Amino acid sequence: MTFILATNNMGKVREFKEILEPLSIGLVPQLVAGVDFEVNETGETFEENAFLKASTVCQYTRFPAVADDSGLCVEALNGEPGVHSARFGGGKEWTDQQKYEYLLQKLEGAENRRAKFVSCICCVFPNGDVLRARGECPGHILSAPQGDGGFGYDPVFAPEGYEQSFAALGQELKNTISHRAKALAAFREELEKYYALR
Ligand code: IMP
Repeated sequence: MTFILATNNMGKVREFKEILEPLSIGLVPQLVAGVDFEVNETGETFEENAFLKASTVCQYTRFPAVADDSGLCVEALNGEPGVHSARFGGGKEWTDQQKYEYLLQKLEGAENRRAKFVSCICCVFPNGDVLRARGECPGHILSAPQGDGGFGYDPVFAPEGYEQSFAALGQELKNTISHRAKALAAFREELEKYYALR
């Protein structure tokens, strides 16, 4: 079975492929499937945006499409950047480094550095069936960046129980404890149930 991965974020593509590798399903990034546009993320929740991306790509390709909408929710910023994580500060033109430096600047002197990553996955099938899954990873924002692995805010986020960032801890560990790993584990169960019922 082939699924189109509704994202142009190569960090997400890599994690999806690594985590879902044991399932023998084909994952084709949207660009390879001819989707040369970005879906406008106009939803107010991760769930809404994941559905928007998956349903648009499914309608366009006529293949089942899977999307992840994710982001970093910081307690001291009332949950921001949240669904706006990819557009934080100067927007999509900013590099990941500019975005996490802006975040560190906003948190300068803050005592409460608690944060969580959230990933919502949505899969839409051409017959209109929809599967959903969610995963969260609590942790805190470090005072300075560490490591050069991962993507996005990985250099400044330490998962609960660690003082090192996701970027320093490495991809293998991240793929076992991250928000995306949890969401994908839940998605995998949904997928197995879905096919068992057919
Ligand atoms: P979107 O889901 O395309 O709206 O983008 C999510 C944004 O959240 C990414 O561009 C990253 O900035 C951030 N993000 C989501 N997941 C991760 C992660 O696993 N590590 C670091 N940053 C992430």
